[in-house]
Amino acid sequence: EQLKLNPTDLIKKLFLKGKMFTINSVLSYEQAEELALEYDALIEKEEVVEESFGEKFSLEEKDKEENLEERAPIITIMGHVDHGKTSLLDTIRKTNVAGGEAGGITQKIGAYQVERHGKKITFIDTPGHEAFTEMRARGAEVTDIAILIVAADDGVKPQTIEAISHAKAAEVPIIVAINKIDKPGADPTRVRTELMEYGLIAPEWGGDTEFVEISAKFNKNIDMLLETILLTAEILELKADFKKRAKGIVLESRLDPKLGPVADVLIKEGNLKVGEVFVCDETFGKVRALINDKGERVNKVYASQPVEILGFDTVPNAGDVLYAIKNEKQAKKIVEEVIKQKKLKEQNRTKHVSLESFSKQLEAEKLKELKLILRADSGGSVEALKDSLNKLSNDEVAVNIIQAAAGAITEGDIMLAEASDAIIIGFHVRPTTKAIKAAEKAGVEIRTHNVIYHITEEIEKALTGMLEPEF
Ligand code: GDP
Repeated sequence: EQLKLNPTDLIKKLFLKGKMFTINSVLSYEQAEELALEYDALIEKEEVVEESFGEKFSLEEKDKEENLEERAPIITIMGHVDHGKTSLLDTIRKTNVAGGEAGGITQKIGAYQVERHGKKITFIDTPGHEAFTEMRARGAEVTDIAILIVAADDGVKPQTIEAISHAKAAEVPIIVAINKIDKPGADPTRVRTELMEYGLIAPEWGGDTEFVEISAKFNKNIDMLLETILLTAEILELKADFKKRAKGIVLESRLDPKLGPVADVLIKEGNLKVGEVFVCDETFGKVRALINDKGERVNKVYASQPVEILGFDTVPNAGDVLYAIKNEKQAKKIVEEVIKQKKLKEQNRTKHVSLESFSKQLEAEKLKELKLILRADSGGSVEALKDSLNKLSNDEVAVNIIQAAAGAITEGDIMLAEASDAIIIGFHVRPTTKAIKAAEKAGVEIRTHNVIYHITEEIEKALTGMLEPEF
């Protein structure tokens, strides 16, 4: 239409180049570009930028380039149970208190900051990939770097693999901490070898993942780990505008019998001062007091700092985004609007991607990849399924398997699917009861089969936009 050409002319042109298309075919951007060039036409890619809630309500103040300053990296520790996540968080907290004051940090406020060579690092105090992905599913991206902890005497375990998929799905860089190297059965080389399979390869082995061998319990090489975090952060060039109004994310919250609603918030951007008015999802308030991770009352906090805030009207939820606002009168109105919009959204519940919607949207050329999470009854069938599905990628659409593991479909899988807009495929496995409930709530699609061929056939159809609706 735009070229004012007859479709058959285009089809003929493509045919002469050895490409078979029909009037219903969808061209890739590259193909369209090549074709347009033949007619001296320029084509441009339309970028679809989703407006965040803050932008929509003009709550979010734009960064000023000249105000951008380096900010502390925000770290989450992940890994298999008992591999030492809590021990590592405790050791770092005790031995690296900012300013080096005695007594240590007394206040637990969802995250804490330590200082090394005058540079700060923020650690999220709830370890594990579940909490991490739950926040992501709610739209709150907090982590800059993930520390994957693997016990040297135990090696790679199911939750290690899950943690890797969750961090990768969020595109968060991973630093590997091989823990418990003090133990007699410790075999760090085995851990390195096992992790190669998941693409985590140390520089000395030709990869680009940093590895640090530590003992969380005996405080060994923790300095080196902090050093590595700072180096990685430097490469990421993390910056924030410290001068604008704050944007923060609620990490934890509670109703204190004396203080009223209290929330632990990680300031992501800008600064927050006592006396400022804010909105936070379905609630709002005025900052009555700010308490830092050392239990001190402060007047002002900045980007990457965790802080306890008093002054909420009602208790917010973890994952809610807080915005400091200028106009006190507006706060209530904004919250009313938020609640209204949420109700509307609930009514028109936009489901997450399903194979059928994928197949449909593919035609409109909105989607370039189909994200899948695979679960099968054994390691062998996981590999077989992975292989067959990976082969289905074609020039236009790619199959992207963000997680593949043996075992039942869990709540964690649903969360990952929700946060990453993926579909879950089960082979000879079923979801747990909790997972079924979570999937229904989140609108995540689960497809289970007992024949590999049925899975590949279904996916292949979806990838070619040919999947027929099921009734
Ligand atoms: P989490 O489940 O990953 O949070 O693991 P924990 O931090 O609770 O640690 C599990 C167990 O391993 C505890 O008994 C710790 O004392 C022990 N542990 C943690 N780090 C080390 C270490 O570096 N060396 C040794 N020997 N034990 C450790």
